[in-house]
Amino acid sequence: MGNYKRGTVCVQGGYEPKVGEPRVLPIYQTTTYKYDDPDHLERLFNLEEEGHLYTRISNPTVEALEKKYAELEGGVGAVSTSSGQAAILNAILNICKAGENIISTTTLYGGTINLFTVNLKNIGIEVRFVNPDAKEEEIVSLADSKTKLIYGETIGNPSLNILDIDKFSKVAKNIGIPLIVDNTVATPIHCNPIKHGANIVIHSTTKYSDGHAQAIGGIIIDGGNFNWNNGKFPELTEPDPSYHGMRYVDTFKEAAYSVKLRVTLIRDLGNGLNPFNAYLTNLGLETLHLRMERHSYNALKLAKWLKNHPKVSFVNYPFLEDSNEYYKATKYLENGASGILNFGIKGGIKEAKEFMKGLKLTSLVVHLGDSRTSILHPATTTHNQLDEKAQIESGVTKDMMRVSVGIEDINDIIIDFENAFLKI
Ligand SMILES: *Cc1c(COP(=O)(O)O)cnc(C)c1O
Repeated sequence: MGNYKRGTVCVQGGYEPKVGEPRVLPIYQTTTYKYDDPDHLERLFNLEEEGHLYTRISNPTVEALEKKYAELEGGVGAVSTSSGQAAILNAILNICKAGENIISTTTLYGGTINLFTVNLKNIGIEVRFVNPDAKEEEIVSLADSKTKLIYGETIGNPSLNILDIDKFSKVAKNIGIPLIVDNTVATPIHCNPIKHGANIVIHSTTKYSDGHAQAIGGIIIDGGNFNWNNGKFPELTEPDPSYHGMRYVDTFKEAAYSVKLRVTLIRDLGNGLNPFNAYLTNLGLETLHLRMERHSYNALKLAKWLKNHPKVSFVNYPFLEDSNEYYKATKYLENGASGILNFGIKGGIKEAKEFMKGLKLTSLVVHLGDSRTSILHPATTTHNQLDEKAQIESGVTKDMMRVSVGIEDINDIIIDFENAFLKI
């Protein structure tokens, strides 16, 4: 689709109907595809020609979503997954195996921390954690010949720490490994990590992309900007016996990473996205640019209001001018920092729980990025499995509340908060 701006791609990207075809992306609710010529099917199996074989591997509705997302992030290809967790897992397994390791910042989503510290460890992949503020030399010193990638979140969930993408991509380049960035919270509307030097971008599309709390999903976008031919990535540069000795970098050039991910991991692990959820996610994306504008506007207003509240001990929002993250926010984020903010309530867990009980419009849900305002107490929920030290490292304190500010009228949200404060 031409050279359109992001708002236009949100609405019309990924799907261009031919004459007489449905104007709106249809749900191709099919597992299989019909062919006439057995030689044709053989060529598809050998990856000599493009086409859909079986919905576990690809599907036209899912493909439209992938094309839209690749355009939104400025990548050369994208692969959808059954969830954000599956996106993270696949993105790593695509280039990392037992006996190897990765470097990751500590300020991560709770589910990612569990994946990294428990399940990756169980399958023999070690995660070496680094403070996001560490100096370049310190990050480099964690790497050895078996280090395969660096991982971070654009806007850490829930710490709201902004990833210094320049610093981490420079270090990754020096080591000769890709930088993978989870851009779930920033969304492609506020940040395109690939433009700043990231190589692979992942999203939990469950959050802002869907935006209506209806469809679990994930996506991996291939920046096409990493040179895999440096001897460190034999899985992409050596012959693959499962495809008659084909070499991904030779056959698929800059899209080697994403093609290999689809035709090996999605094929074998079966954790791709289903057509119905792709349809819902695409529908959500059609308004992503409008929703993010309002989420960010509302969040900044609420953050400023909370700052002046006597029962509030601290407020974190990257675009508050006295925030530690303000400089990085202005450098990496365009037009806002999403609807996520967090604040401390004077007292602790007891007061936090009382406050949540007093809210009416704002709901208590395990989610973020919905058009409805929601709230969560990370220390007793998403980050509950972590010990106190790991909680602090990931930016969670006992008095901290995470708010996902929705797109309702901000005045009603503020009144809801004021009423709940009156009850504690
Ligand atoms: C929710 C979330 C995930 C996990 O995504 P699911 O779709 O819930 O599997 C990963 N990263 C971040 C930043 C998230 O907020």
